[in-house]
Amino acid sequence: MKYFLLIVSILFTFHETEAQDLDNHFINKTLRIDYIFSGDKNSQSVSLDQLYQLPQWAGRRHNLSELLWQGNGQIKMTDIKNGECIYIDAFSTLFSEWQSTPEAETIRRSFENTFLVPFPKNKVVVEISLRDRSGSYRTTMKHIVDPNDIQIKKKGLKNIPKYTILHQGNTTDKCINVVILAEGYTITEMDKFRADAKIACEQIFEHSPFNALKNKFNFYAVETISEDSDVSVPRENRWNSTAFSSQFDTFYSERYLTTTHIKDLHDAIAGIPYAHIIILANTNVYGGGGIFNAYTLTTTGHKDFKPVIVHEFGHSFAGLGDEYYYESDVLDNTYNHEVEPWEPNITTLVNFESKWANMLQPQTPIPTDVSLSKKFPIGVFEGAGYSAKGIYRPAIDCRMKTNTCKDFCPVCQRAIEQLVKFYTE
Ligand SMILES: [Zn+2]
Repeated sequence: MKYFLLIVSILFTFHETEAQDLDNHFINKTLRIDYIFSGDKNSQSVSLDQLYQLPQWAGRRHNLSELLWQGNGQIKMTDIKNGECIYIDAFSTLFSEWQSTPEAETIRRSFENTFLVPFPKNKVVVEISLRDRSGSYRTTMKHIVDPNDIQIKKKGLKNIPKYTILHQGNTTDKCINVVILAEGYTITEMDKFRADAKIACEQIFEHSPFNALKNKFNFYAVETISEDSDVSVPRENRWNSTAFSSQFDTFYSERYLTTTHIKDLHDAIAGIPYAHIIILANTNVYGGGGIFNAYTLTTTGHKDFKPVIVHEFGHSFAGLGDEYYYESDVLDNTYNHEVEPWEPNITTLVNFESKWANMLQPQTPIPTDVSLSKKFPIGVFEGAGYSAKGIYRPAIDCRMKTNTCKDFCPVCQRAIEQLVKFYTE
C-alpha cells in the first residue's frame, strides 16, 4: 500500500510540474502566426502577415522547448527578458520543396505558411529558421510579439463550423488533436464525407503503432463545404471552386495534390481544437501529399485511398520520409546526398548512428544487399527518398514505400511511437 501511495504521489508531482511548465509562460489560448515565405533557388525570406488569437490551446503540453525531429524549418519562441527558449516546433513547407524545382532557378515565388503556438503571457521573440542545402538552420526572420498588442485579431469565437467527434482518446486534454476536413464535397455530399472521414480514422488505427496508441488521439471531422464537387486538375484544364482551392500537378508532378491556400485552411477551422490536419479530397484521381506539421491531403475516390491516407499521415504527422525511389532518378535533387536528412527513416550514411543503427542485428552489413533481407530484415538497403543511389531505407518494404505493404517498417513504427510519446508524456 505504501508503495502504491508513493507511486501515486510521484505521478501526481510529475504531472503538476508539467502543467506548471505550460502555465508558467502561456495562457490556454493559441497564437496563430501567418507568414509569407518567398524567394528562389538560392534565396529565401520570411515576412509577417497577421497575428491571431484562437480561443484554446490544442497542441502539445509536453517537452515544449525541445524537438524530436529537426524538420526543414523551425519556429522558436524565447522569453524576451532572459532569452530562454519556451517553445519550439519543427515543420516542412511547400516553399522548401519548390526551391529544389527547375522553376526556382528562373523565378521568385511566395507561399503562405501558418503556425500555431501557445499564447505567451509576456513579450516574446519569435524566430523562423530554415534549413539550407548544407543542412544548417539559418534564422530568416525574428520578431517580437507583445501579447497585449491590440492588432492581434481574435478569431474562432463565433460561426465555428459544425464538427463531429470520430474518436476520443483517454485523457482528452492531453491527447493529440487531429481534424479531418472536406475538400471538393458539396453540401449534398456530406454523408459521403462523414463516411470517408470514418474510414480514414479507422485506417490509421489499423496500423501499428497507432493501434496501440489509440488512447492518445482525438479525431474530429469538420464539414467544410465546397461549391463544386471534385478538385482541380490543371492538366485536364479542370479548375473547380473548392473549400481550399487544392489542385493536382503541383510543381508539374501529376499526382502531387496540394493546396497553397493555407490561410483559408486555418480560417475554416478557427475555434475548433486542432493541431494536425487531414484534408480528404473528393475525387477518383490518384494522388496526394503530406507535409510535416502542415497537412495531409489525399483522395477518397481512388482504390488506394486506404493505404495512401496512412502513408501521407506518416509524412504530415510523423515526419517520415518516402522510402520509394525511381530507377530512372538515380540521383534525384530533392536531398543533398552529402548531408544526413532529418527524417528518421532514411539515411545518406553521413550520420547513420543518429538513425536506426541501434536496431540492427550484430554483423548486419552496411549497406545491406537486398539478397540478405531474409537474414537481416532490418538493414540499410540502397534506394529511398526518390533516389536509386546514395539514400538508404531500413527495410525491403514499408507503408512509406508501397501501397501494397501492409505495415510500417519497424524503424517507422519506432519513430511514430517516439513522437506520440514526445507529444503526450
Ligand atoms: Zn519505414
